[in-house]
Amino acid sequence: MKNTVIIGLFAFGALLTACKPSAEEVNVYSARHYRADEQLFEKFTEATGIRVNVVKANADQLINRLEMEGDMSPADLLMAADAGRLVLAREKGLLQALQSPIIKERVPEHLRDRQGYWTGFTRRARVIAYHKERVNPSELSTYEALAEPVWKGRVLVRSSQAHYNQTLMASIVAALGKEEASAWAGQLVKNMARKPGGNDRDQVKAIVAGEGDVAIINTYYMGLLLNSANEEERAVAREVALFFPNQEERGTHVNVSAIGLTAHAPNAENAQKLVEFLLSEEAQKTIAEVNHEYPVNPTVEWPPLLQSWGRFEMDLLPLDELGKHLETAQMVFHEAGWE
Ligand code: FE
Repeated sequence: MKNTVIIGLFAFGALLTACKPSAEEVNVYSARHYRADEQLFEKFTEATGIRVNVVKANADQLINRLEMEGDMSPADLLMAADAGRLVLAREKGLLQALQSPIIKERVPEHLRDRQGYWTGFTRRARVIAYHKERVNPSELSTYEALAEPVWKGRVLVRSSQAHYNQTLMASIVAALGKEEASAWAGQLVKNMARKPGGNDRDQVKAIVAGEGDVAIINTYYMGLLLNSANEEERAVAREVALFFPNQEERGTHVNVSAIGLTAHAPNAENAQKLVEFLLSEEAQKTIAEVNHEYPVNPTVEWPPLLQSWGRFEMDLLPLDELGKHLETAQMVFHEAGWE
């Protein structure tokens, strides 16, 4: 923590005093909430002498704030745990293109904005978690199949407010079209074990508590539970396994944590260095080992836990096209009554 200054949303004055104009620094507005990031920023500061100042809030709050601040914004980078938020930020004119050959070299095209406005730097798979005793993985196949009557009262998932679900739904709209996506969502809501709520970890806990049998979650939350300091959480994780859906067709939905250079970045050069650092082998390994996310850089080796979950086919939908489907996804949730 020594080189990283974490600042709350409303402590803007503190940010300004913390930023001595002569010091080399970079200002990050981050919606990520993982301990791994503090380690990454520390390593970056050690390697470059550039201090990282972080403002944390949820992605929509950060986007609003960038809009309000305009060209007075101290932010250099916007970081979120979802590609959809970066797509929206670009649409609002809050970002500028980063021309970095390193990004093109290290990040597959479908995981970044092809004009350079943002890039994924961690990859996450949204999968089906299931109870090892009550569900046989041979019963599982696709996201779509969770809408079948056999799953009535057994499906757990968080609310439609969650960006992870919004981006998943956008990918389903892209694959099936609005009508089929709506039909699916309507059936899925009928199969839900309870009102959608809580975070991904809570869904896993609800499986073990017997509230439901399957849940839609991001894989790394299983990694976080398995490695939790809390023995109860570790015990919960041991009763649950992961299934990668849609392997026979379009692949499992993947999202990214993404980062983009803000339109008025005062420290653009340092910002580019930080983005390139996040894509380095060292940083990608830290992300995979500490937060159990997948590297975006395909040449970086996976740690044993990720390897144990197996290789999988991923949906290659270009994430910079998500914007076309996010609004429809909202309509689908609304019509389906997915709270
Ligand atoms: Fe998360």
